[in-house]
Amino acid sequence: MARIGFLGLGNMGQPMAINLLKAGHALTAFDIVTEQSAPLVDHGASIADTASSAVQDVDVVISMLPASEHVAELYLDGPGGNEDPGLVSQLSADTLIIDCSTIAAETSKAVASAAADRGITMLDAPVSGGVGGAVAGTLTFIVGGTEGGFNAAKPILEDMGRHIFHAGDAGAGQVGKICNNMLLAITMTGTAEALQMGVDNGLDPKVLSDIISASSGGNWAVSSYNPYPGVMDNVPASDDYRGGFLVRLMIKDLALALDMARRSGSETPLGDLANSRYEQLREQGLDDMDFSSIQKLYRATDR
Ligand code: NAD
Repeated sequence: MARIGFLGLGNMGQPMAINLLKAGHALTAFDIVTEQSAPLVDHGASIADTASSAVQDVDVVISMLPASEHVAELYLDGPGGNEDPGLVSQLSADTLIIDCSTIAAETSKAVASAAADRGITMLDAPVSGGVGGAVAGTLTFIVGGTEGGFNAAKPILEDMGRHIFHAGDAGAGQVGKICNNMLLAITMTGTAEALQMGVDNGLDPKVLSDIISASSGGNWAVSSYNPYPGVMDNVPASDDYRGGFLVRLMIKDLALALDMARRSGSETPLGDLANSRYEQLREQGLDDMDFSSIQKLYRATDR
């Protein structure tokens, strides 16, 4: 049983924290939006009113924040206008930091390096599997950092996930995650495109999805996170695209992917195209809908 400070209780953080509580860990939660932490009380969590108080006397700090700037501010800079410095300067050397946010590899490396200067181990451990995977405790963790840190974190990550990969040194988890998410944007867009073409030509979207799932075009988007409304229960497409993985987060991940490609001189024409489709969704004001709402760019009634 570990004492854990959990920071960021959004769509992903909440169910991840609940699984840690179910596994018997003692958990203190903090979110800058107070209401986000409230549901954890029923599961036995303590609620802190600052990040600093959430990480007092803990063995492990886990964060699940939106983007690079939030992680840099939390660990390095401290909140603007506040006297609190970043958490790295407040934690004791035996604390393990596990940041599960999807952010730039450079930011993960900067936090890991500042932490290492104080003898603290920091891992980047972004996840794949969506809100469904977070609830079910079946996430995939893609971890960057030292071997020792990975071995220490693994039992805790196993309480939230099924597949735990050590991708390499600090930042390597983010590289693996960003490659995956660029491909996810491409496959989700392609799946929406194919489903609409089938419907436009008289096929039932559920029948077509079953066909594709059992054929060579099969992929996670069509068989586990279908974007066409009514094909699957318990996915955002069947709840007017509410919740899930928001368009603005996918656009953030595509920006990370395209920036990484530019730095490495990698060619990403399909990543560029998927990015422009998601930018079109943003222009339609769909930033806060699930990313499978890309289907709306194709459905005749929404065009
Ligand atoms: P979210 O916006 O629902 O939740 C983020 C939470 O962090 C919010 O509740 C916000 O108030 C809180 N927060 C922001 N700054 C904070 C700070 N300084 N201290 C404490 N709390 C703070 O986002 P999410 O969907 O939970 O995603 C979190 C991360 O996981 C993102 O990097 C995202 O790209 C990644 N991710 C999301 C999914 C998904 O399906 N939603 C899947 C895989 C990875």
